[in-house]
Amino acid sequence: MSSKILSKDKLDAFLQGLKGARDVFAPAMVEGKVGWAAVEQASDMLTEFSNTEMSPKDFFFPQTECMMRFKNASGDPEGMIMMAEPALARPRALMNIRPCDAKAFQVLDLIFVQDEMTNDLYWRDKRERTACIGLACNDPCPTCFCTSVNCGPHHEAGLDLLLVDLGDKYLVKVLNDKGAELAKDLPAAAAGDEAKAAELKIAAEAKITGGVSMDQVKSREVMELYEAGHWDRVQESCLNCGTCTFCCPTCHCFDIQDEVQGESGRRVRNWDTCMSWLFTMHGTGHNPRGTKKDRVRQRFMHKFKYIPVKRGGEIGCVGCGRCVQLCPVNIDVRRVVNDMNA
Ligand code: SF4
Ligand code: SF4
Repeated sequence: MSSKILSKDKLDAFLQGLKGARDVFAPAMVEGKVGWAAVEQASDMLTEFSNTEMSPKDFFFPQTECMMRFKNASGDPEGMIMMAEPALARPRALMNIRPCDAKAFQVLDLIFVQDEMTNDLYWRDKRERTACIGLACNDPCPTCFCTSVNCGPHHEAGLDLLLVDLGDKYLVKVLNDKGAELAKDLPAAAAGDEAKAAELKIAAEAKITGGVSMDQVKSREVMELYEAGHWDRVQESCLNCGTCTFCCPTCHCFDIQDEVQGESGRRVRNWDTCMSWLFTMHGTGHNPRGTKKDRVRQRFMHKFKYIPVKRGGEIGCVGCGRCVQLCPVNIDVRRVVNDMNA
């Protein structure tokens, strides 16, 4: 599809156009950190930042989400009333999403929406009612390795529009019909603008020097990797704190609980983590991932072997580098992949 131009002095007008029909959220300073917030005007948004501390997966898969409410005033099980939780009140737009985080939406689409039987309406409805506008990275940080995992600093997957910063204006890449509707009033880009964006893409990719090869992991058998000796060493320092899973844009473990008070209650789903021993505890007391080694191995095998095998080669990591930055004992996912390679 053709590209458009958004002059930076028209950014606020573009935002106000979006806000006419949608709630708009973007990276912003939140309590001293780069987070996500509702924005009223262009000056509320960050346009120069490495990435948000937490990924925007929370917009589609909230940390705590009410799935339905129930009430039984009669005491008779037949008298149970169940009420669906209302969907989003208004459509939404997320602006300035980094391409790795948008790629993670696409990875999670493969998990949450697979077929008629595995079709998570909570995830799907929010995805359908949210426009995703990306902002290409021209200066990736040292912990980024998106180019190693089917992604890149100007990657377009999971987005409706991708903005590329050209200085005093953005090149607006229109990626689908939803994006075309959002950008319909913007002027067309010139060939020179597209050429400059293409140069910036090559330069940004070249700045990512901390990559890791996936070739060996791909070709090795599941059981060969599962039984490899290095897991004894990798698991040693891990605290099973779960930080890496909560900050990860592709991690999606959850737990469902009923919260009941008197005659009524609600069913909620909460983020959980495969790093927790309780996550896999069975009602019988048996735990199939009862040791720390089992849990650490699961996290990496799931991302780099089980998801690729089951989902046509897609990788359960987008190389955002958050877990590298935040792990309190400096476990670096790239080193673990190198161990898997070796
Ligand atoms: S953040 Fe580090 S220490 Fe915590 S669970 Fe993940 S790998 Fe283990
Ligand atoms: S595993 Fe780490 S680097 Fe990969 S997507 Fe998750 S947080 Fe980002």
